[in-house]
Amino acid sequence: MHAFDYQAPTTLREALELLSKPQQSARPLAGGTDLIDQMRVGRLTPEVVIDIKKIAELNALRVDSGGLHLGAAVPCYRICSERAIIDDYSALVDSCRIIGGVQIQSRASLGGNLCNSGPAGDSIPSLIALQATCLIAGPQGTREVPVESFCTGPGKNVLRTGELLIELRMPRRAPHSGSHYRRMIPRNEMDIAVVGVGASVQLDATGKTIVAARLALGAVAPTPLYAESASQLLAGQPVSDALIAKAAQAAREIVKPISDMRGTAEYRVHVTGVLVQRALQAAIVRARGEACDYRPGH
Ligand SMILES: Cc1cc2nc3c(=O)[nH]c(=O)nc-3n(C[C@H](O)[C@H](O)[C@H](O)COP(=O)(O)OP(=O)(O)OC[C@H]3O[C@@H](n4cnc5c(N)ncnc54)[C@H](O)[C@@H]3O)c2cc1C
Repeated sequence: MHAFDYQAPTTLREALELLSKPQQSARPLAGGTDLIDQMRVGRLTPEVVIDIKKIAELNALRVDSGGLHLGAAVPCYRICSERAIIDDYSALVDSCRIIGGVQIQSRASLGGNLCNSGPAGDSIPSLIALQATCLIAGPQGTREVPVESFCTGPGKNVLRTGELLIELRMPRRAPHSGSHYRRMIPRNEMDIAVVGVGASVQLDATGKTIVAARLALGAVAPTPLYAESASQLLAGQPVSDALIAKAAQAAREIVKPISDMRGTAEYRVHVTGVLVQRALQAAIVRARGEACDYRPGH
């Protein structure tokens, strides 16, 4: 690995100053589970690595009247063990439980997963389904970007030089709502998704009609996708197998997958529909307050 300088600022201001220093390439490090590997193989060669785990704002984890504030550097294990997230943002827990194994989950953050901007990043469809927005800080101040607009291509995103992702914000869980993330991988663990689907659903008080839904798809296009038309056709409709099959078909129509060693494009299109159905069914079960028997890898 090339030689680099390591900095561990304790304030946001310090981190932003380091990131904006002219004539040096700098890279934030959260868990380092993507970054270190990419530096090891020479894909990234920053002169300065800025450890952001010691900055309070990036470790925030709280639910208030505005919803969930999740610091960009909070590791997966904290997300999985937080009662408020388990109860109200279940899709996030589904994602965090399958990102690598225990060691990876003890370091890896959702900010890192999103900023790495891989098409198959397992947290991104859940964040889109939960209507997350990114709070970004930089030399020009702060701005907010919806997660579905954040990634612009494989490994690429809207962050400009000197900018840092601070926090992911999600609205409060609506009454009678539930969410779920499910992926298909060739092995039971330690692989990346062939397809990943995040779903969130709000039902009416009877639990029989869908008030609103959001579906998001991973690993089937150069960036994770918000399946807008598939989501909208569910709104206002009574829950039925036919309706769920219609949403699955609408999702299949917007994907543009590649063929690789994990599966052909045709296979990915098929699996997209299957997973949309399963993710929606599980989100509906959760929205009704019933037990969801989903276990990762099953
Ligand atoms: C063995 C193994 C298994 C894995 N399994 C999975 C899996 O199942 N699913 C999956 O999705 N991923 C998986 N990954 C990839 C990785 O663990 C995840 O993408 C993880 O969430 C990255 O988070 P991190 O905090 O480690 O990011 P880092 O490696 O610290 O950062 C990733 C990138 O984002 C940038 N960055 C980080 N934080 C910020 C910020 N706040 N603002 C701006 N830029 C930032 C960094 O500069 C870097 O370019 C695996 C990795 C390994 C090594």
